[in-house]
Amino acid sequence: MSAVGDAGRGPADVTTVEAAVAAAHGAEAVAPGVLRLPLTTPTLPPATTTNHVLIGRQRALVIDPATPLAAGQAQLVALCRALERDAGWRFHGLLLTHHHRDHVGGAAPIASALGLSIFAHLRTAALVAESLPRCVPVDDGDNVGGTLSATDPGWRALHTPGHAPGHLVLVHPEGGVVAGDLVAGEGTILIDPSDGDMALYLASLRRILALPPTWLIPAHGPVLADGAAVLSATLAHRLAREARVLAALDDVARSDDALLPRAYHDVPRRTWPLALRSLRSHLWHLERQGLATREGERWRRARPS
Ligand SMILES: [Zn+2]
Repeated sequence: MSAVGDAGRGPADVTTVEAAVAAAHGAEAVAPGVLRLPLTTPTLPPATTTNHVLIGRQRALVIDPATPLAAGQAQLVALCRALERDAGWRFHGLLLTHHHRDHVGGAAPIASALGLSIFAHLRTAALVAESLPRCVPVDDGDNVGGTLSATDPGWRALHTPGHAPGHLVLVHPEGGVVAGDLVAGEGTILIDPSDGDMALYLASLRRILALPPTWLIPAHGPVLADGAAVLSATLAHRLAREARVLAALDDVARSDDALLPRAYHDVPRRTWPLALRSLRSHLWHLERQGLATREGERWRRARPS
């Protein structure tokens, strides 16, 4: 894929060198100072890779050092070293969008190979403290790096909880977004009741949609040229699903297993184990809105009071 946009900053030959280094290491040049390297991870099917996103050139970051495989880690480290040697990049750290294993699996070895710190939201840092004890905290609105010139403010981190409590999205002043698991480039984003929150997720989608974004790099799948359209479609899909879950409820209290085929009959049966977890997140959200009532392990539509 060719570059999505050129900010016109920095000499063109740097961009050309960057693109050549990227191509030589299996990465895609997305925009000046932005590269995407998809590498194999233990993620949710149908996705098989996580995007390792490099934002540079000064105070450069690797976003989601995810691959647990030595070959992938070596490929990423070689790319970073080539960018420093040939394209003038200076790396500053690794940044975790959130704590899930398909985003952090290579953090320790890659940080150690490149001599870099690991940045994460405090909530993420707490969740990975056992394996990554020295994360540097990032808060909502922080400038995290990835600057092309002395006058470039670089990328900002926005706290976007919902998929995970410490989820961060990275935003460029000109509208580019590194979205982590806020939206899916392939498959779907699971809001798991164990660590997800549907109300926060919907609020985070609306917040990033309001920027509004231009292009967007999801954690899994290709670059999406129209980020706003993807966020709108994701939001509409979630609200439509929640409406189906509400429509599946009536005056009879039913188990979530019984509600599943009523609310998810349109999705392939092989995805039902994941759909069941998503269903629970929607039920909890409906309960908090006063629309569903829990009776033990069963659910019915709330009666108007
Ligand atoms: Zn995730």
